[in-house]
Amino acid sequence: MGIRVGVIRGNGIGPEITQATLRVLEATDIEFEWVPVAIGDEGVEQYGHPLPQESVKLLKELKLAIKAPLLVDKFKGRLYCEHEDGSVGVYPSLNNAIRRELGLYVCPRPIRGFKGISGAYEDLDVHIMREITEDVYSGIEHMVGDCAAECIKLTTRKAALRVAEYSFDYARKNGRKKVTCVHKANAVSMADGLFLACFREVAARNPDIPSDDFMVDATAYYLAKCPEKFDVIVASNQYGDILSDLAAGLVGSLGLAPGANVGENGEIVVEASHGAAPDIAGREIANPIALILSGALLLRHIGRCDQAIRVERAVAEVLNERLSLTPDLGGTGTTMGVAEEIVGRM
Ligand code: NAD
Repeated sequence: MGIRVGVIRGNGIGPEITQATLRVLEATDIEFEWVPVAIGDEGVEQYGHPLPQESVKLLKELKLAIKAPLLVDKFKGRLYCEHEDGSVGVYPSLNNAIRRELGLYVCPRPIRGFKGISGAYEDLDVHIMREITEDVYSGIEHMVGDCAAECIKLTTRKAALRVAEYSFDYARKNGRKKVTCVHKANAVSMADGLFLACFREVAARNPDIPSDDFMVDATAYYLAKCPEKFDVIVASNQYGDILSDLAAGLVGSLGLAPGANVGENGEIVVEASHGAAPDIAGREIANPIALILSGALLLRHIGRCDQAIRVERAVAEVLNERLSLTPDLGGTGTTMGVAEEIVGRM
């Protein structure tokens, strides 16, 4: 029996890039058993809920999953998840609900430039650790009459310490040189001030890894101007979300930025940084590389770095030689064409 991995096929470009990713992972020497997990449209069809508790339970058992993007706007409004014990989780979006129902708390997004593709940013190598349980995406917002709205930016010591600890561990395990905390503590003195204070507390316990901090606006500027200033970045939910799309744009495409959602008990749900790209869905032109590289993160997580390196090298070769590129990178290739080229190189 192979390694059982949950597969959330998503919608928009999700099914296309999932097929390409599974094709590449099947070309490693690992035997997988893909377990479909009904979430989104499939959840509604099978269980009458976009995030059925049956699927949450299955993902908790599997601990390993590949998730394609989901069109969040389809399931607009607050999402209520009723648990067996009678408690209810209330979430602002489906993606947020998946992360929080599964107890996933950090989203590492290693973003790298590629020779032949990323121009001035081909040496960019920034790993963004995005906190994914709170901040302005906590879902605590309300209207004040018809003319105003309030949204709470939640920061807790628990979440801020946990993501900082993960970032220093990540830096140590991956041979990285520095961890930078991104914040706006001059203006958001309490919420971001606490995030920064927790980071400094953890940094003091990890003196072997240099650390510093930057305001989020300065970080955006320096990322564009001199990205070599950064190595590992730790950021709250929204700043991490925005900065990872910026970094992806700098290296050439959202289709190059992989990611993972990691929990405290070894759970991992890998997913690309980008969304469901409805503007190009169904045309077989989506770039599958972000999800394929996310698949490589799953291989590393299960201790198969040898196979992860095989996938990553093949991706780099295909990109360096500008073989079979999708239109976002200036080519005329197809989603499966890119996958086949990568498999050929493996
Ligand atoms: P998006 O990331 O889907 O697309 C932004 C732009 O990048 C579009 O022009 C798109 O064509 C392009 N793009 C994205 N991925 C690409 C790829 N692999 N190859 C080539 N081009 C690619 O962002 P959006 O348009 O703001 O959001 C679309 C939908 O996706 C929304 O419903 C949003 O809520 C959802 N979304 C889901 C996730 C997720 O599931 N994790 C994340 C972000 C957005």
